[in-house]
Amino acid sequence: MFYIHCPYCGEHREEEEFHPKGQAHIERPKDPEACSDEEWGDYLFFRDNPRGVHHELWVHAVGCRKFFNVTRHTVTYEILETYKMGEQPRITAESLASQQTQGNVQVASGGQQTVGATNAAAPSVKGEQV
Ligand SMILES: [Zn+2]
Repeated sequence: MFYIHCPYCGEHREEEEFHPKGQAHIERPKDPEACSDEEWGDYLFFRDNPRGVHHELWVHAVGCRKFFNVTRHTVTYEILETYKMGEQPRITAESLASQQTQGNVQVASGGQQTVGATNAAAPSVKGEQV
């Protein structure tokens, strides 16, 4: 059992209250009629499957029932941050890679996972949208 920080409730809650809903930051084409079949198919069916940092859409199903975003590492399953809809992630694959080359990365190990609390305020650094 671990805890996930809900950015709307403002507190850590048990993982069983949450459900993942797939990749985050997928923008619906502004003019679907103008899309080719391939572009529309990409929008509907194709998702990134990175080894490393991934931005995901989650819902606090048994709590406030709001959707929010999670930055998760797909190798370690570590949740690096949570943030509200409409906000941009502070942690991206690019920012994490630059931190690691500088030797400043902090890796959490085992036990209770209580990440995401540092994101209570709006992100001040705009990350690249993936
Ligand atoms: Zn909540």
